[in-house]
Amino acid sequence: MSGFISFAYQHDQLFAESVSLIDIANEFGTPCYVYSRAALTAAYQEFSRAFAGRDHLICYAVKANSNLAILNVLARLGSGFDIVSGGELQRVLKAGGNPRKIVFSGVGKNQEEMRAALAADILCFNIESEMELLRLNQIAQEMNKVAPVSLRVNPDVDAKTHPYISTGLKENKFGIPMAEAERIYHAARELSHVHITGLDCHIGSQLTEIDPFIEASNKMLNLLDRLESQGLHIAHLDLGGGLGIRYNQESPPSIKDYVAALCVTVGQRKQRILIEPGRSLVGNTGLLLTRVEYLKHAPHRNFAIVDAAMNDLMRPALYDAYHEILPVIKKAGAVSTYQVVGPVCETGDFIGHDRKLTLAKDDLLAVMSAGAYGMSMSSNYNTRPRAAEVMVDGDTVHLIRARETIEQLIASEKVLD
Ligand SMILES: *Cc1c(COP(=O)(O)O)cnc(C)c1O
Repeated sequence: MSGFISFAYQHDQLFAESVSLIDIANEFGTPCYVYSRAALTAAYQEFSRAFAGRDHLICYAVKANSNLAILNVLARLGSGFDIVSGGELQRVLKAGGNPRKIVFSGVGKNQEEMRAALAADILCFNIESEMELLRLNQIAQEMNKVAPVSLRVNPDVDAKTHPYISTGLKENKFGIPMAEAERIYHAARELSHVHITGLDCHIGSQLTEIDPFIEASNKMLNLLDRLESQGLHIAHLDLGGGLGIRYNQESPPSIKDYVAALCVTVGQRKQRILIEPGRSLVGNTGLLLTRVEYLKHAPHRNFAIVDAAMNDLMRPALYDAYHEILPVIKKAGAVSTYQVVGPVCETGDFIGHDRKLTLAKDDLLAVMSAGAYGMSMSSNYNTRPRAAEVMVDGDTVHLIRARETIEQLIASEKVLD
């Protein structure tokens, strides 16, 4: 059970903090996302402690899990936020996040999103192209504001992760090419309604080695030193997110070692350090609780058909990602190898392949490490209402998102007159 600080067996029954998952399933139904407040707090504090005396800001990447309760717990701990849309801005503000701790990333910010973020007085726009910079300058001028900006520079570093979540190679759509960064910084300096505050990069997600982070940081620091020597003042260095977690056999660096390595690389420079962790803050603080509907024994394979599907947890279908699947009640009996699949009409609809489990109809299973990119990537495919979400805090369970209803799902649709 190592790695899951708040999910552990007590007398062969899996608990979230002090609450049995059986009780949660009985009260809230399945599928249901279950988060631990203690685990979330511990992860945030590990980041925050690792920075010790250094000027820093942890900007949680909201897209990993944007539930208001998650955002609120982090806001109370003093967290900042990395947003990628106007919708995420509204969520952070509604959850009590401080706009002066918000950075806005993303390659396609539209005009309304820029206006809303300028009106909220966010900390910084992470700019990903020259055209975006010019548009922001224009909109800021119309609003009689000055927009704080960082350029997101693409360091051309191989993050050695799944190609869909690698973002820092020169062929990726993200960031400004290193070779153009200096010119665009100087162009930005000439614009009347933007103010340069930082330098930013983000090279990918689920990185399990420290070297790519250091390589990217060194490239950023070279650029930073050149810009400063040319008279540009860079107040903060944003090194992005991307630290991996343990889903299966991975051994990513600890939060502490990762932060320490970044701090050593930055050295004596005076810039404030920003980071944008998503997965490493929330990934192992949540699980997806699901119930076995049917067992089906085909000639060469055994299927366990559960009530959670790819619309609830897309990562296996999208990236062939592995999630550990644990029985909520450990029991004796014959072990079989199961394909754990959902009810959706796609062969790609699986939660786990070749899992050795002792199963009967109606058993509960916990799909682990589902706190990041689980609910936030969920959909209504097959007209399936989205799952309920609960947060456990000691012996209390809070419903933080009610299960969707079919009525809600079709409410904005209309037939022809
Ligand atoms: C997704 C994203 C992150 C967070 O990545 P994790 O791997 O979840 O830490 C940080 N910054 C940007 C710009 C992102 O797009």
